[in-house]
Amino acid sequence: MSLSLSWTVVRVNTKFEFKIARSAFSHYDRVILHLGDGQHLAYGEAAPNIRYEAGCEAIVAMLDQKKSQILELAINDAESRQEALEKMFPESYALQAALDTLFWDLYGKRRAAPLWKIFGANKDLVISSYTIGISDLSAIPAKIEEATPYPILKIKLGTDYDHDIIRAIRAETDKVLRVDVNEGWKTLDEAKQGTEWLIEENVEFLEQPMPASQLDDIAKLREFSPLPIVADENSVRPEDLKGLVGAYDGINIKLMKCGGLTNARKMVELSQKYGFDIMMGCMLETSIGISAMAQLGSFARWLDLDGNVLIADDPYLGVGNTGGQIILNDKPGLGVEPR
Ligand SMILES: [Mg+2]
Repeated sequence: MSLSLSWTVVRVNTKFEFKIARSAFSHYDRVILHLGDGQHLAYGEAAPNIRYEAGCEAIVAMLDQKKSQILELAINDAESRQEALEKMFPESYALQAALDTLFWDLYGKRRAAPLWKIFGANKDLVISSYTIGISDLSAIPAKIEEATPYPILKIKLGTDYDHDIIRAIRAETDKVLRVDVNEGWKTLDEAKQGTEWLIEENVEFLEQPMPASQLDDIAKLREFSPLPIVADENSVRPEDLKGLVGAYDGINIKLMKCGGLTNARKMVELSQKYGFDIMMGCMLETSIGISAMAQLGSFARWLDLDGNVLIADDPYLGVGNTGGQIILNDKPGLGVEPR
């Protein structure tokens, strides 16, 4: 049976405006892909991030242009498929991720097996964090209230009132905090000062404190910091990891940066080789993207898979999230269906 491919752009709205050091949005467009073989319908999602690439319009144009080549991609040989995807769409990691995920979903469905099982992973996942974006200090009590079900909070910093944000949060809760600066601290002095007061505030780790281009400064900060330092904007693709040895304790793997599950599996393997702790994260993604990353979730020390619960109108159902506990199902492939 021949394959059929279609796509649609879906706009999702966030529960709160989502603000980080470099951007703020209350809705996002995502490209949802469908691949059918007459018996099974597979799903994939592209959630492009403006830090790395152009948006959905560009992705749709690329799909229009390369549709027939996409339909010739290998279903059973992920390595060669990923190689082809990188040649076809070198400018869009999110589209690579959507297509790789789409073909993995079909592969799992044809074998009637969930991908976590096919990947040698399991359903035993650590509790995921819940993200608190940047806001005015006055909005913090309401945000902490909204996060009541979640025991681990990931706090976005990178403002000129970072310490006040943490103080305001600590006035409300003594939960475990993780901090993500999103490259917001621009000098080593600023980063050292930030790290010093974070230690006093019982923070578990520090993510991407400084710009990815300042790797030498980050290595110096790591020598100084008792907090583990985790790479995100520095840890995009598998080939980045070797260069991060000495500068980071851990790396954040995201499908939309690395190009999909095939490369994410490579990053897991390389992290084990280089001794990095693994975090798995996401963009503001629907349950398609979140369920895809969760298939590898048991390989992670830290999970940050809250994209779908930050969305008010997620059109899909996949993994569950009960107070940060991500619950994988036993359905074939990604285990995702329309809501
Ligand atoms: Mg991050």
